[in-house]
Amino acid sequence: MLQSPKQTPLTIIVHGGAGNVSPHYHTAALQGCEAAATAGWHVLQDGGSALAAVEAAVRVLEDDPVFNAGTGSVLNADGEVEMDAGIMDGATLQIGAVAAIQHYAHPISLARRVMEASGHHILAAAGAERFAQSQGFAPVPNQQMIVPRRQEQYEKRLAAGTADTVGALALDAAGNVAAANSTGGVNFKLPGRVGDSPLAGAGFYADNAFGAVATTGQGEHIMRVGLAWRAMQALEQGTTAQQAAQQAIALLQERVPDGRAGLIVVDTAGRVGIAHCTRDLPTAYWRQGAAGPVSALRA
Ligand code: ASP
Repeated sequence: MLQSPKQTPLTIIVHGGAGNVSPHYHTAALQGCEAAATAGWHVLQDGGSALAAVEAAVRVLEDDPVFNAGTGSVLNADGEVEMDAGIMDGATLQIGAVAAIQHYAHPISLARRVMEASGHHILAAAGAERFAQSQGFAPVPNQQMIVPRRQEQYEKRLAAGTADTVGALALDAAGNVAAANSTGGVNFKLPGRVGDSPLAGAGFYADNAFGAVATTGQGEHIMRVGLAWRAMQALEQGTTAQQAAQQAIALLQERVPDGRAGLIVVDTAGRVGIAHCTRDLPTAYWRQGAAGPVSALRA
C-alpha cells in the first residue's frame, strides 16, 4: 500500500513577554498576540516557511506599541531605544541576530538579513546599523519608536524589570521549525547592555530534529542557565513540548532562585508548551485544525 507523505501539522505560537502585564493592557496584549499568530498562520497556510512565519509574526508585534520590541520598546538609562533580536532556522541551524541597535523599526528582519547575507551570526550597535544601511533597510529616527507610555515609565522611573518582549515559533508543512525573538531589553539598562534575546541557546533555539524554543524574562537570569538550550535538551530526551517548558523553568528556579522567566516551545509533532515563573506570559497559538488562535494571559 502506498503511504502518504509525512505531513506535519502547521503550528505557530507567539508570546508577548514574561512579567506583570498591567490590567489596563490585558486585552491589548492578547489581541496583539492573536494578530501576530494569525499573520504567521497565513504565511504557513500559503505554503510559506517556518522562518517566514516567525518573521511575519514578530514584525506585527514590533509594530504594536503595546509590546517591548520595535515601536514601543522600553528605554535605556539614557532614555533611548536600543534593541536586540535573533532568529534561527531549524533546517540549517543558521542564526542571525542583532544587538544594541537603534534606528530600525523591524530588528527581526535585520536579524534575518544578518543570517542570510552577512557571513556572520551576530552584529551589534553601529556595525549592525551600517550593515542595515548597506542592505537597503530604511532608518527611522529613534524618537519615532518611543511611545508615551514608555517615556512616562522612564521619567517616573516606573516599571523596573521585564515585560512585553516578543517571540515566535513555527512548524511548517515540510517539517521545518524556526524561532524568533525581538526586544527593547529591560527598563533603564545601561547603554550597550545585551540581553539573552539575540543569543542562541539562551534566548532561542531551533532544530528540525527536536523542535524550537523562545525564552523571555530577565536576560541576566536566562543566560546563566542557557534556558532555551535546557528546554532543547529535554526535547532531545523525548519529552513533549509542555514537559520541556516546565522542566526548563523548574531548573531555572532551582539554580537561580530569584530567576524570572518564561518560555514557549514547539515540538516536531506540532505540540506547544508554555511555562513561566512570572505572573503573566501572554501567548497565542494556532495549530492545524483550529478555527483561529487560542490566547491566554497565563499558562
Ligand atoms: N529577555 C529580555 C532581556 O533581558 C527581556 C524580556 O524578555 O522581557 O533583554
